[in-house]
Formats: sequence, C-alpha cells, structure tokens
Amino acid sequence: MDLTKKELIYEGKAKKLYTTEDPKYLIVEYKDSFTAFNGQKKATMSGKGVLNNKISSRLFELLAKNGVESHFAGQIDDVHQLVRRVKIVPLEVIVRNITTGSLCKRLGVEEGMKLPRPLFEMCYKDDALGDPFIIEDHALLFGWATKEEIDKIKEISFKVNDILKDYFAGKGVVLVDFKLEFGKDSDGKLMLADEISPDTCRFWDSSTGDHLDKDRFRKDLGNVMAAYEEIWKRISE
Ligand code: UDP
Repeated sequence: MDLTKKELIYEGKAKKLYTTEDPKYLIVEYKDSFTAFNGQKKATMSGKGVLNNKISSRLFELLAKNGVESHFAGQIDDVHQLVRRVKIVPLEVIVRNITTGSLCKRLGVEEGMKLPRPLFEMCYKDDALGDPFIIEDHALLFGWATKEEIDKIKEISFKVNDILKDYFAGKGVVLVDFKLEFGKDSDGKLMLADEISPDTCRFWDSSTGDHLDKDRFRKDLGNVMAAYEEIWKRISE
C-alpha cells in the first residue's frame, strides 16, 4: 500500500488527517500541540506527538489482541498512523473508575472516590458548545446515534475499561477515567476511533498518586513531557 499523504482534509487541536491513495484509509499525524479548557489554554511541547502516537498505537494493538476492533491499521513512523476512514459519531464517551474532574465540579461529589462500578457518561461532540453533557435520549432524539449503536458503544467502552484497567494496574498505574470516540466505516460498521493517550486518559501512579497525564498541563503541575515519557516507559517495558 502507498503510504504517502495526499491531501490534508482536517486539522484538529492535536492531530492532522490526510487522505491516501486508498479511499478506505487515512493517515493521522500527531502534533506537538496541547490545548485545554475547550482551546482557551494552548502550548506546544516538542516530542508530544511522537509519544502520543507511540502510546496510542501500542494501546490500540493491545485492544485488538483482546478482541476490540478500532480504526487503527498500523503505526507508520514516529508521528504517523494509518487508520481506516470512518465517520465519527458525534459523541464523546467517558468511562470513570475514580471521581475527579468535571464530574466533581458538576455534581459536587468528593474527589478521588473509588466507584463501586465503572460510570459511563456521554457528551455531545461540539466544540462551539463546549462538548455538553447529554443523556441517551438526546442522542436518540436528535439522531446522533441509534439505540443499537449506543448499546454497542457502551459494551465496547466497558470492555476497553476492563482491558486497560488491568493492563495499567500491572504497570503500577491507576486508570482513573478516559474519553473514547467511535466511528462508522463505509459499510456502517461501528468501531473505536480517535486516540487513547495521556491526552485522553487520566493516569495516576499507583504508589505516589502522581498525575501522569494531561492534568499536568491543565493544572500547571510542570514536568508534562516527563509524565508522558513515564507512561511510554511503563508500557514499552
Ligand atoms: N477528556 C478528553 N477530551 C475532552 C474532555 C475530557 O479526552 O474534551 C478526557 C479527560 O482527559 C479525562 C476524561 O475524559 O481523562 C474525563 O474528563 P472530565 O469530564 O473530567 O473533563 P475535564 O475535567 O478534563 O474537563
């Protein structure tokens, strides 16, 4: 397959998307940029794209080995992945094992509580609206996803959580919460898409509680790239 980029079709906050010779595949380029608080806070950190690409590739491979299909078709080089072309379902799905972040702000519940079972939440993927929290009925009534798709998304999300939580526990890392996105290929087949990285997951060191994820950037905790490096080191060992 010809792995050269043809045309830039989309540039997001952390990635660029290019077409390839094959209409069924796209090339993703991971950028060095950081954004938080719906794009209000921005920075560039050298090496971030490489780390997120490597981490995300490794995690998609791990999920594939455990029966979770995604758009990931292979890592090309340091900053590029080959992915199946999908139409993104406009939902941001969040799975939580421990309370923190927007959940605590929204509901006033205590930070750092271990939940008796994983919590599944959905947001409507719309930057201009700040990805608002929604319930299933919104997605159904406004045609963002069907009941069957939501059931499948939920099932896959919990399976991803089971696999990643156990995997990271073995690496001395607590998987606190994460965001997933899904897409549909030209045959309407639903699969996991986007990325899985310290940008989209919260990782806490099991012994020190140190934050090894984008919260270091959001909260100005420093050593942002060192934390991403640490996640890569743990999963590449
Ligand atoms: N998250 C994400 N993109 C978003 C919002 C959240 O990847 O646009 C991830 C975030 O990194 C965390 C989880 O989803 O792992 C839950 O985030 P939360 O809802 O607590 O939002 P935040 O506190 O980051 O605003």
